[in-house]
Amino acid sequence: MKAKTENLMQAIISLSKQRGFMYPGSEIYGGISGMWDYGPLGLRLKQNVEKLWWRMFVENREDMYGLDSSVITHPDVWKASGHVASFADPLIDCKKCQSRFRADQIDVSLGCPDCSSHDFSEVRPFHMMFKTFVGAVEDSAAETYLRPETAQGIFLNFKNVIDSFHPALPFGIAQIGKAFRNEITPGNMLFRLREFSQMEIEYFVRPHDWEKYFEAWRTNINAWGEALGLRLQEIEVPAPERAFYSKRTIDFNFSYPFGQDELYGLAYRGDYDLQNHTKFSGKDLYYFDEATKERIVPHVIEPTFGVDRTILALLLSAYATEPDKEGTRTVLKLKPNLAPYTAAVFPLLSNKPELVLRAREIYQGLKSSLAVAWDDIGNIGKRYRRQDEIGTPYAITVDFETLEDGSVTVRDRDSMQQERVNETELAEYLRTKIA
Ligand code: ATP
Repeated sequence: MKAKTENLMQAIISLSKQRGFMYPGSEIYGGISGMWDYGPLGLRLKQNVEKLWWRMFVENREDMYGLDSSVITHPDVWKASGHVASFADPLIDCKKCQSRFRADQIDVSLGCPDCSSHDFSEVRPFHMMFKTFVGAVEDSAAETYLRPETAQGIFLNFKNVIDSFHPALPFGIAQIGKAFRNEITPGNMLFRLREFSQMEIEYFVRPHDWEKYFEAWRTNINAWGEALGLRLQEIEVPAPERAFYSKRTIDFNFSYPFGQDELYGLAYRGDYDLQNHTKFSGKDLYYFDEATKERIVPHVIEPTFGVDRTILALLLSAYATEPDKEGTRTVLKLKPNLAPYTAAVFPLLSNKPELVLRAREIYQGLKSSLAVAWDDIGNIGKRYRRQDEIGTPYAITVDFETLEDGSVTVRDRDSMQQERVNETELAEYLRTKIA
């Protein structure tokens, strides 16, 4: 039984805080809107997502190059990209209660969502990049921005990667990193943050090939959704809502409790970015085809994946409450390869030194190659509940039989079924389960 939709966000928020997945940013100072910190378990989940993405889209392919570019760049980068001129959302204020909204997200004719007043300000553009200063002088010459997307760092290094690796077209550059946007209305936990992480790819193709590779990436994004067990809904973005340089964009939406909204995106960016950086930097950004002696400005397909929205979608999809022997259990049915811990190891009784010693040995043995947790607090039932709640797929109990024949009990999180496995086969057993 899924928790009631309206309570689901609250359930995720309190479980995250209590069990160490996510903590509200700067909480002891009263918090700061749009910022969340990853706790020990949230970080493990996030690292597992990022590792899987990197393996699937970089390591397992021959046409991809990884990058980790700086968050702060030359300010002209954002003039060339168009962000200085137009990275703004329409802002509207309620004059009565002073609440601020994105004008495109509220129905003005219904009045202020907070106080119902109809006394609104004019709609004006609100610039979303965070300004900062580089160097010791705080004047406009030293002013630049925190990047609002990771993509531009890739375009800046397009020529470097070509010169170092001489890739053949098509090829892609991938990067995982932080992005910063001063959103007008942050909220819904990890959905709309002011500091968040993106996993982005710029895939460079011959101009006439763009449709073929757009389709290929569409398939890849759906395969990624399947690998995570997330149900994605494709929405073709109509021309008036697309960036002017894009001939095609698909949003990959997810059904959050607050409505269906974007999780991932796929955009055809043409040669907009490379042409603009050529114009603004004065450096020719092109690809030289040795075979035909042609200079080509490749066109770009951009699949983009929000890390934090992925974490939110995973928590929402995995969360369940269901009856068990002792009443109701809360369980996070995360895929075994994503869960913060693959297994937890317990001694059946914590006051029997011989069981604790043997359990510690087994735990230490697994720990070198697998993500395992140790738990010896409370009775076995409580430990199962605790591990269910953080999504640990396997719980291993060391009991008196273990001392005799080396077998342990392995309990499956989802079916709650138990089986005996020999400790010598345990690591292989778990590895097979998470493969
Ligand atoms: P939205 O329409 O929701 O503001 P967007 O279309 O501006 O999103 P993109 O610029 O395409 O988003 O960013 C790429 C990805 O980065 C999004 O698909 C999303 O997963 C993630 N993302 C964008 N803005 C945020 C944010 N404020 N908080 C968390 N993730 C975000």
